Amino acid sequence: MAIYEARCRQVQQLLAEQGVDALLVWPSSDLIYLQGYPARPRPRLTLLVVPVDEQPIAVVPVLEAMRLDSLPERFFRAIAWEETDDPVQRTVAALGGRGRRAATIAVSDQLWGGFLLRFQAALPSARFVSAGPIMRALRIRKSPDEVELLREAGRRQDRALERLLESSMLGRPEIEVAQRYVDYRRQEGLEVEKLGTFGAGPGGASPHQLVGPRPIQPGDSVVIDGSATYRHYYADSTRTVCAGQSDAELRTIYAVVQEAQEAAVRAVRPGVTAESVDAVAREIIERAGYGDRFIHRTGHGIGLDVHEDPYIVRGNSTVLEPGMAFSIEPGIYLPGRFGVRIEDIVVVTDSGAERLNHLPRELRSVA
Ligand code: ZN
Ligand code: ZN
Ligand code: ZN
Repeated sequence: MAIYEARCRQVQQLLAEQGVDALLVWPSSDLIYLQGYPARPRPRLTLLVVPVDEQPIAVVPVLEAMRLDSLPERFFRAIAWEETDDPVQRTVAALGGRGRRAATIAVSDQLWGGFLLRFQAALPSARFVSAGPIMRALRIRKSPDEVELLREAGRRQDRALERLLESSMLGRPEIEVAQRYVDYRRQEGLEVEKLGTFGAGPGGASPHQLVGPRPIQPGDSVVIDGSATYRHYYADSTRTVCAGQSDAELRTIYAVVQEAQEAAVRAVRPGVTAESVDAVAREIIERAGYGDRFIHRTGHGIGLDVHEDPYIVRGNSTVLEPGMAFSIEPGIYLPGRFGVRIEDIVVVTDSGAERLNHLPRELRSVA
């Protein structure tokens, strides 16, 4: 059975188990997962209807219907709607009798609120629920093919970052070096949407800092974080380097973050909880006296989304299983001064963790 047919049958089985009559999939990572269909969210509605007991139906604007031929492995039939049609009504028609009685309809979490309101008005007796838990159950453990795509994304990102670290940064504006990293990753065949998080000195003290014009100065710690995709699967990694000579304080803090990152990676194995991995990194940083400067979770799941389940955070008692993929990225941030973060993606194996990023993690000095 082809991959997308198999995934659709799996989701239909979950719909049946949970008493859901149909799933409405918005253009999102879920649509890529179920059909390999990278449609964009737009005011002209594209939606995949997955009835519990029938082949899926894609409702697409007529002007996009021709590109469906580029999806040879798709497992749906298409309904193309014309400019003067009401796509919400066409979708309701595609649901057939399933919409009319007191149906339960699961919708993508990303479905625009305006469309949800129109579906609620068109199907007043239906009950709408989140498709999140259903899709999470399918996507949280990666198949060997998915792991290989994540691995390839990581390899390409590592090569681009190594090339960046060999290029010269001192005296150059942050934004110029950040753009150079984007270029290098594109040359590796990765798709890059955003400049990412690139912060030198005080800019690195704010984890989601916007990249600015400040020139990189001698002694700056430089936090280089970025996400990019290879065939829709994400790479995400961070290295913190020092421009020129590092001082003792940076070296001390760096050593704490490095120890926390190593220990958390070593703690990853099947059977432990997500929050226990967070606790391992956090305890090391707390013991060193920087607990209140580690201001985010230890990691996030990754796959077709850069942030997805499982989150490596206190309160998440999800038990890790082989195939789960996530970041391990502890950091310490001294506001107004500098920050340090080290991030690798790992995949849970039968006995531990495989890292998908391999650049050295020692504090490195760049020119
Ligand atoms: Zn982040
Ligand atoms: Zn990152
Ligand atoms: Zn990350």
